Amino acid sequence: MIGFMPIVFKSKVTQMIDYWQNYINGAWGDGGAGRITVTNPGTGEALAEQALADAGDVDRAVQAARAMHRSGALSALRPVERGRMVQAMGRYLLDHQDKIAHVLTLEQGKPLWEAALEVKGAARYFEYYGNQAETVEGRSIPLGAGYFDFTTYEPFGVSAQIIPWNYPVEMTARSLSAGLVTGNACVVKSPELTPLTNAWFPRAAEAAGLPKGAVNVLCGLGHEAGAALAAHPDVNQIVFTGSVSTGIAIAESAARNVVPCVLELGGKSAAIVHEDADLEAFEKDIRWGIYFNAGQVCSAMSRVIVHHTRRDELVERAAAVAKSLSVGPGIERTACAANMGAMVSNAQRDRAADMVSAAQAAGARVVTGGRKMNIPGAFMEPTVLSDVTPDMVIAQEEVFGPVLSILSFREEADAIRIANGTPYGLVGGVFTRDIDRAMQAAQNIRAGQVFVNEWYAGGVETPFGGYGKSGYGREKGREALWNYVQTKNIAIRLR
Ligand code: NAD
Repeated sequence: MIGFMPIVFKSKVTQMIDYWQNYINGAWGDGGAGRITVTNPGTGEALAEQALADAGDVDRAVQAARAMHRSGALSALRPVERGRMVQAMGRYLLDHQDKIAHVLTLEQGKPLWEAALEVKGAARYFEYYGNQAETVEGRSIPLGAGYFDFTTYEPFGVSAQIIPWNYPVEMTARSLSAGLVTGNACVVKSPELTPLTNAWFPRAAEAAGLPKGAVNVLCGLGHEAGAALAAHPDVNQIVFTGSVSTGIAIAESAARNVVPCVLELGGKSAAIVHEDADLEAFEKDIRWGIYFNAGQVCSAMSRVIVHHTRRDELVERAAAVAKSLSVGPGIERTACAANMGAMVSNAQRDRAADMVSAAQAAGARVVTGGRKMNIPGAFMEPTVLSDVTPDMVIAQEEVFGPVLSILSFREEADAIRIANGTPYGLVGGVFTRDIDRAMQAAQNIRAGQVFVNEWYAGGVETPFGGYGKSGYGREKGREALWNYVQTKNIAIRLR
């Protein structure tokens, strides 16, 4: 049986704004590159228009951020004051949760209750990092008599944050909260598929009393506004979540300007399921691990590597979980239950369906699902593939959709080898009652985070980020704060 949290969304119809602007230096405005139509993936119909920034807009935003930073209006504050403002931004999001979730569902496709969870998650980042404001402390280093030496941490200055479409509210919240609390001025490039909900961050910043120029949010095309932001000579630090190829382009721009970047580039994460695992409990991990947000999660449990003696039972249980999900427009799915919404776009849905067909041609068995659904919108059937082998493309490349690949193993060492056998290394999991076996797997899995007996265990407090092509730097937890500050050492000769 799958357990569900007792969350019921109080559905409210929000008047949809037709045209959404960018926010630069405390003012809303049009974009130099015109407008883009945002589509509702739950219907396939146009939802609204969004202003598109060009390189000139990006420059204005960066200059506004730079001027604010140089003024000291944020960085010179006592940290507790910044912390209080960041916390207030989170409370603002919670106060507007219903409206934000409504628009999020319309632009992204996820069920309304999932959208509400995302807004809560975003608010939690502001709470957590607001609380951390006063913990960024330097240290004193003994140099013997005649010297006094200490370190301080200073913000980089202008933090550029390039956001993906799968969790546009949470991802912006994640970098914006940590960036602001450490005293940086932020320029957010929202995703062109799901830009609308990012409009609540400037509103939250205004309500919290942040200085003009501290929060700038603009939408633009990746290869135009995104590239211009990543390459801007006055950007001092970059945070990016998205695809490997875009991450490489951003890292190249960062290298040319000699600025640090944090890259979170997705994965092909595997759960190793041993013969002693509780498969009934594991149904819940399947439900959340691969069907939450229609599988469009960087740390999705996209592979299960199961001991051959339990394979048939696991395949049967996974198929039952997939078949139990009611798939349809997210806006009608208000309560946390066995349901799934649309994928973000027809292009993402078609790509996932094509990957399933290719896997089938390569010898994988489609146990259930695998097809686009014959209804308006970007819907795909919850899918389970068995007989997947480690060399198949489906076992190597990120699908970013509701597609679970099941592989099997005989020896423990093989399970680890298969789990580690992709270029990625974001997260991993091990399911067993044997603590020694779990600990050994945790040590041997090459990933930034390992879950034992619960996929997605952890939270805002736990550091998150990749090994290998999953990127570098860490988000979440106290670890992430160090991405936004640079160390200054001050050595004093006493006379
Ligand atoms: P993407 O990496 O191209 O886009 C992510 C963000 O980067 C968007 O805001 C986009 O505008 C921006 N961008 C694109 N090109 C840029 C450039 N040259 N310079 C600066 N910014 C740029 O991702 P996508 O094309 O939307 O999705 C493709 C695949 O990426 C997905 O199928 C999935 O596998 C992966 N993806 C991963 C995540 C994640 O959470 N790790 C999120 C989204 C997509």
